[in-house]
Amino acid sequence: LPEAAVTALQEADVRRLLPVPDVESDKYRRGVVGIAAGSAKYPGAAVLSVAGALRGGAGLIRYVGSAAAEVVRRFPEVVVSDAGLAAAGRVQSWVVGPGGGDGVGEVLDQALGAGVPVLVDADGLTELARRGPVAGASLVLTPHTGEAARLLAGATGQAPPDAAGLAASRLATARRLAELYGATVLLKGSTTVVADPDGRCRVNPTGTPWLATAGSGDVLAGLLGSLLAAGLAPFDAASVAAYLHGLAGRHAAERGTPITAMDVATAVNHQGLGELRR
Ligand code: AMP
Ligand code: MG
Repeated sequence: LPEAAVTALQEADVRRLLPVPDVESDKYRRGVVGIAAGSAKYPGAAVLSVAGALRGGAGLIRYVGSAAAEVVRRFPEVVVSDAGLAAAGRVQSWVVGPGGGDGVGEVLDQALGAGVPVLVDADGLTELARRGPVAGASLVLTPHTGEAARLLAGATGQAPPDAAGLAASRLATARRLAELYGATVLLKGSTTVVADPDGRCRVNPTGTPWLATAGSGDVLAGLLGSLLAAGLAPFDAASVAAYLHGLAGRHAAERGTPITAMDVATAVNHQGLGELRR
């Protein structure tokens, strides 16, 4: 693939792409995100994904999973359902996998059949790696290096590549995965790269090592889900989410002190990010 297909994401791209509600907006047009995440062991992953989606600008969140009580206690705005994804009501994107636990295979099947873009993260990626590439849905995958190694092994039948090798060729890895899975791939790390199955790549210039904290990726998943639900193309949604997540991390950590994943979600409403929507 030509090197010209690789670009650094620019602030101007983000300004152009970020949705801003207008007088015609209602919550459905702003985007309904379905979140299928969390488990008895990781209820907090559901809460953090919801936080990311709300701060990303979703008009409405529907939650399906075992952490409904925790989610609603923290975010009374969320509509919960315990009868599976199909019964949850209309959504414009599904986020599957953060803290997913045991039932994630069935959840993934339901999301893939829903006819809307599906973001797969965390335990959802482990399940996808077990299956190898799946057809049908518009897919966004958000692996960190370890998850990327499993996905590569799952698609090629070869042993998982070692983490050091993957880290040295992150751009090539993201592209390879995008091609193998027919998916937009956001490969997380100190520099996040986004690859589209059409060959385009973007490198995200924002971020801070303070983002290396538990739950940070769950916030990113929700944030990205909200941009998919708002109608951004998967490649654009993934790049803008990486950019905002990195900037939010920087703002949250601007005093130079440690931050939590929830701090990152909250910092999406920092004035510095608001400037991008004007
Ligand atoms: P996860 O591993 O799913 O919790 O996601 C971790 C998040 O933190 C991703 O968005 C990574 O890109 C980000 N991150 C992890 N380590 C670093 C680092 N050293 N520098 C910048 N961002 C990082
Ligand atoms: Mg994660």
